[in-house]
Amino acid sequence: MSSKDCIFCKIASGQIPAVKIYEDEVVVAFLDIGPVSDGHTLVMPCKHVEKVHNCPAELLEQVWSRLPKIAGAIISAVGADGYNVLCNNGRAAGQVVDHLHFHIIPRKAGDGVFTQWPSHKYGQGKAEAIAERIRSKL
Ligand code: AMP
Ligand code: ZN
Repeated sequence: MSSKDCIFCKIASGQIPAVKIYEDEVVVAFLDIGPVSDGHTLVMPCKHVEKVHNCPAELLEQVWSRLPKIAGAIISAVGADGYNVLCNNGRAAGQVVDHLHFHIIPRKAGDGVFTQWPSHKYGQGKAEAIAERIRSKL
């Protein structure tokens, strides 16, 4: 998807409305239109970048540097017990809007959200083999 057709670029530029909670020259933070919980917020760079791995490190640093302030305000405002910071990258991972964004999802103790984490155990030698393959790409 090009930035011309990107709904989040249109939110960043003000072409379409959103309930913004914070914006500056680098990031926009706005309430998710389909919240998992009250205060569920999306924080994104104003610039169109699709995924973490193709975001310039400097821009990612700038976006993340805003998270303490924004997340702190959200959890304080809604009285959350905790929160998830979630970033879906690619369709297989649930990314629907191809403009990099971080979900901040306020959580209450026992709220039943994300209760299942389908973990498994590595077989003999597999973790080291995968780690070696990853290290060779760094
Ligand atoms: P993802 O699956 O990580 O790409 O998440 C996209 C998120 O964007 C979903 O949680 C949607 O509810 C949210 N969303 C889509 N369109 C809008 C919009 N116009 N304003 C606010 N949130 C939106
Ligand atoms: Zn965009």
